Amino acid sequence: MVICDPQIMRELSREWLREGKTIGLVPTMGNLHEGHLSLMRRAASENDIAVASIFVNPKQFGPNEDFAAYPRTFEADLAGCRSAGLEIVFAPTGSAMYPTGFCTRVEVDELTSGLCGAARPGHFSGVTTVVARLHCLILPTRAYYGEKDYQQLQVISRMTEDLGLGIEVIGMPIVRESDGLAMSSRNQYLDADERQAALCLSRALRAAQEAAAGGPVSAAAIEDAAADVIADEPLAKIDYVSLVDPRSLVPMAYLDEPGRLCLAARVGPARLIDNALIVPGGSLAS
Ligand code: AMP
Repeated sequence: MVICDPQIMRELSREWLREGKTIGLVPTMGNLHEGHLSLMRRAASENDIAVASIFVNPKQFGPNEDFAAYPRTFEADLAGCRSAGLEIVFAPTGSAMYPTGFCTRVEVDELTSGLCGAARPGHFSGVTTVVARLHCLILPTRAYYGEKDYQQLQVISRMTEDLGLGIEVIGMPIVRESDGLAMSSRNQYLDADERQAALCLSRALRAAQEAAAGGPVSAAAIEDAAADVIADEPLAKIDYVSLVDPRSLVPMAYLDEPGRLCLAARVGPARLIDNALIVPGGSLAS
């Protein structure tokens, strides 16, 4: 069933909750791939009702970003949702999500100051504003987000806890193409050469883990190992490479416990992100 009206979505979910049903929510911007579908299958498997939202949220795109170009493939997305076992798709229009007079902005401090928050001013307040609205409308028992957008996952977890919504936020591992490229709707912007060049991101993560394989080491050594791989790729331009504490996202000086290496690079027309848990003395985890 496709629901476009937020009011109807709210009434339905309140009814499910009154009936004692659990609700799983998977927010997306559509153009579904296996990464999204992994979240949906999990939501369908552990809840009585699973809902996907499909909404390209204008508030999380900057003025010079790809809101207009973002791939919209609604019919194929519906088929994908069905194949993942989802009963309900919430697909509001922009004016339904943000009716005339809407003037609330939800802002999470600290966690949003670095990484993509520094590179994309206003992006995270756009994300948290739409996710807060989705969480409040649907009141899911559990909401599913990918570690692909690692900072986003931490920001949404924090916001949901801070607002006391009683929703369990579940992070899911990054789904990759067979050659290591993290799946992303933005991979479609790449031509064949750029697609090949984009592999430097996952290679950089492997190089970072190799740099940590001998045990504790400075964060700079990890970051340099990753940055060197990207710098060697002529079609890629580094935005940031940063080893951070996995919960607070504060940059680490020294890797003596697991850290999250987060990176962003521009490859041709696409800005791509990737990340991995780096464990001193360990091998590459997702
Ligand atoms: P998006 O449609 O890009 O906003 O993504 C919707 C959700 O899917 C977010 O929670 C993303 O983190 C997640 N996601 C996107 N790509 C992947 C991937 N390759 N692996 C796992 N989750 C992903």
